[in-house]
Amino acid sequence: MGGDRLERARAALRATLLAHGVTPAVVDTLLSVPRERFVPDGDPAGAWQDRAMAIGHDQTISQPTVVAVMTQAAAVQPGDVVLDVGTGSGYQAAVLAAAGATVHSIERIPALAARARRTLAEVAPAVTVHVGDGTKGLPGYAPYDAIVVAAATRTIPPALLEQLRPPGPEGAGEAAPRGGRLVIPVGEPSWLHAQRLLLVERTADGFTQQHLLDVLFVPLVGGPA
Ligand code: SAH
Repeated sequence: MGGDRLERARAALRATLLAHGVTPAVVDTLLSVPRERFVPDGDPAGAWQDRAMAIGHDQTISQPTVVAVMTQAAAVQPGDVVLDVGTGSGYQAAVLAAAGATVHSIERIPALAARARRTLAEVAPAVTVHVGDGTKGLPGYAPYDAIVVAAATRTIPPALLEQLRPPGPEGAGEAAPRGGRLVIPVGEPSWLHAQRLLLVERTADGFTQQHLLDVLFVPLVGGPA
């Protein structure tokens, strides 16, 4: 009975993601991560609805379609090293790990980091959770193939651009491996204004930028909690 509701909720989310143009591979990645483990309330089927949910400390677990779009834009390949800024529940980090990445996730609120660390130890052991200010990136493990930011900022922190991997050299007859990708919501950090979710890619001589969609995120807060 309860299992039926859960399966129906998962099937509905699969259809919603595909309707948003999410690739079947990324849809499978999202569905492989038990989202019910990352939300506080005990209703597993409710966890699979396409909505953000409160996780305490005035923070939210992001909406599945937004996590999917961010994961797809990050273009994670197995073996990539990825920085996840704003661990929150740990859900986005787990999805990036399910795509094959080694993930470093940074959170400024120690209590959220501690809870995410416990969940991820069971669900996604390829994720390491750090407590700190993600506006400075995490230089010790840079460069990153992708950086995914789950909090809104007026301007892109320069440290995040610096920590993106430059594109590799071209081999004989081969295209150069892509440079690092940064996925970040940029705009007024307020619930009253949508922000622009941007994909920034490092190139041989600079950065390119693309607007993916409009989103609502909690603010990216610099400095210690
Ligand atoms: N990716 C999360 C979403 C969390 S909401 C998930 O899947 O559940 C954004 C998170 O960013 C919040 O937990 C907030 O505390 C955190 N945050 C805000 N500013 C930050 C900063 N400068 N460094 C690290 N984390 C930050």
